[in-house]
Amino acid sequence: MGSGENYSTGITGKPMDRFMLEAIAEAKKGLAEGGIPIGSVLVRKGEIVGRGHNRRVQEKNPMKHAEIDCLINAGRTGSYRDTVLYSTLMPCYLCAGAVVQFKIPKVIVGEARTFGGAESFMRQNGVEVTNLDLRECVEMMKQFIKENPKLWDEDIGEQDSQQINGLRR
Ligand SMILES: [Zn+2]
Repeated sequence: MGSGENYSTGITGKPMDRFMLEAIAEAKKGLAEGGIPIGSVLVRKGEIVGRGHNRRVQEKNPMKHAEIDCLINAGRTGSYRDTVLYSTLMPCYLCAGAVVQFKIPKVIVGEARTFGGAESFMRQNGVEVTNLDLRECVEMMKQFIKENPKLWDEDIGEQDSQQINGLRR
């Protein structure tokens, strides 16, 4: 606000992708549990076949990123060729690795301002990546990182998140 940045209108403007709304709902569920607010849903033919959120804090499990949790919850679904993975934040290398390995053709993310993730890695491997750049998703992460810098550093394997993406606290 006042920074000259142009965000998408998000849920306050034109109707937002309903699946991203579900991913955001998952992120908020995680936050309410004391976890990191990142949510994800897997969609096939207009239906959610899996959903999840980051549970690293809740389950003391460093592998439980939102996208991984979502894929675990989706269970064995056969080929992923007709699926779309939604995430409130640009997937990291761990999650992008799963996307590439399982040949999920399309990933739609809420934002990549607070964390650049593995966008170029996915693109280089033929994944179609769409960044909705939603203010709601950016603010949700900014607020969390500001209040829990150590938790966030640990999540992405960093010592000091102050150096990441120019975020200042
Ligand atoms: Zn991840």
